[in-house]
Amino acid sequence: MNHDIDIKKLQVNCFRQSKVPGEFMLQMRAPGGVVQAKYLAVVQHIADTWGNGQLHLGMRQTFSIPGIKYENIEAVNEYLRGYIEEVEVASCDVNMDVNEGGYPTIGARNVMACIGNSHCIKANIDTLSLARKMEKLVFPSHYHIKMSIAGCPNDCAKATFNDFGIVGIAKMEYDYDRCIACERCVETCASHATRVLSLENGKIVKDVCCCVGCAECATVCPTGAWTRRPTKFYRVLIGGRSGKQYPRAGKIFLNWVTEEVLLAVIGNWQAFSAEVLNHQPRYLHGGHLIDMAGYEKFKEWILKGVKLNPEAEVAERLYWTETEYRSNIHVKPVCGVD
Ligand code: SF4
Ligand code: SF4
Ligand code: SF4
Repeated sequence: MNHDIDIKKLQVNCFRQSKVPGEFMLQMRAPGGVVQAKYLAVVQHIADTWGNGQLHLGMRQTFSIPGIKYENIEAVNEYLRGYIEEVEVASCDVNMDVNEGGYPTIGARNVMACIGNSHCIKANIDTLSLARKMEKLVFPSHYHIKMSIAGCPNDCAKATFNDFGIVGIAKMEYDYDRCIACERCVETCASHATRVLSLENGKIVKDVCCCVGCAECATVCPTGAWTRRPTKFYRVLIGGRSGKQYPRAGKIFLNWVTEEVLLAVIGNWQAFSAEVLNHQPRYLHGGHLIDMAGYEKFKEWILKGVKLNPEAEVAERLYWTETEYRSNIHVKPVCGVD
């Protein structure tokens, strides 16, 4: 093996070290987990020319191409230029100089998303266009963050296990004049959601405390008595993670925020990270930084300049019962920080 290989530099470049000495796996970003199918030809060309002919569908919706030898990385980076220009700059309007050096950072991870309302009948939001807007706000950055978007509270995108998990939710409107009291919404809410609906005197009544905004009621209503309010709303969970020692589910930080608020919050992520890490990016993900700052500071910094919509709810306190990161994390990251 070439002992001069700078593994860290290659990692920043989105190449992951293989257990085979001198080989690497490229992780190509695909914001929202979607690209034009024509780019499969690009992936195939890289895999066949410089890789081992295989493609792994990366766990964060990347195209992961293993078996690339160190001496071919320069050629791969040069070839990637067109893909990065089209997928990052043209599609996501990411502000970056694209050159023959490949990806400039691995910090902000590929933004994940379920298919959302471009296909799924349960979706409350356009996850794919949101992913592109979020990509523009966090990439390229050396501050590490994992984000995922689910089109509805079913959370097929596992937003719950990300530093920032976004869930599309809906404010529901009920039109009594259209209701035929068939109770299908009551049954569906009971079996698929939160049992907050009941029929009283021929009219549907909702216990508003616990409606999660999934819109399952609207999907089954035969008369259109239930409809989603046109404004899109979002739930934001923070601090979720997998990991070796103490995996944990994210907790609700914001509920019923509009897209404008959501994007303003995400737009503050880099400034928040810089505050916590004293402007020196490290291989620590969002959940660690939130723990390091403490919820009160996190809330103060991440909401700086953000004008909340009237429906928005912000968690007063947040804590996890799982063991937190060790207190020495300020000095030396413990193992399992990815
Ligand atoms: S999370 Fe909801 S919108 Fe997304 S794929 Fe699953 S059911 Fe559909
Ligand atoms: S949005 Fe979901 S939780 Fe709320 S009433 Fe409809 S089915 Fe029940
Ligand atoms: S499903 Fe629609 S029509 Fe039937 S009870 Fe519910 S709101 Fe009324």
